[in-house]
Amino acid sequence: MAENTARLGPRPPLIASKPGRKKEPRLLAVINQSGCTGCEACIIFCPVDCIEIVPGMGIAQFQQVVEVDIERCIGCALCAKNCPWDTIPMLSYEEGISQAPGLTLKSVCNQKTREDLTPETTPPSSQTA
Ligand code: SF4
Ligand code: SF4
Repeated sequence: MAENTARLGPRPPLIASKPGRKKEPRLLAVINQSGCTGCEACIIFCPVDCIEIVPGMGIAQFQQVVEVDIERCIGCALCAKNCPWDTIPMLSYEEGISQAPGLTLKSVCNQKTREDLTPETTPPSSQTA
C-alpha cells in the first residue's frame, strides 16, 4: 500500500468537511492540468463530488482548471470517460500518488504540485558566476 505523500498540510475547511471514502481505491483519477480547459464537464459526472475548481496559473480570474482530491476519489473513471480533452489519466493508486504532484500546476486541496517538487526555481543560466 502506497503512503499518501501527495498532500501538504491541513485541508481547507470546505474540503475537509466533505465525507471521506471508505477504502483505498484500486485506481485514482489525476487531472493533467496542462491539458485541462476548465470546461467543468467532468464535475457533473463525479459521484462523490471530489473534483474541485482551481484558479489557473496565469490570470486566475480568466482561466481555471480542475483538480481531483485524490484523498476522496473512488476511482470510478466516469470523469476520465467524459473529459472532452482526454486529460484525466486513470492511474493505479500507487502511480496516482507519485504522479499527481507532477501533473498538478495548482491545488486547492493542499496537494503537492510540480512547484513543490522543484523548490529550486532559479534556473542555472540566471545564476552569476
Ligand atoms: S474517478 Fe470517479 S470518483 Fe474519481 S474523480 Fe473521477 S468521477 Fe470522481
Ligand atoms: S472535463 Fe477535462 S478539460 Fe474539462 S474541466 Fe474536466 S479535466 Fe478539465
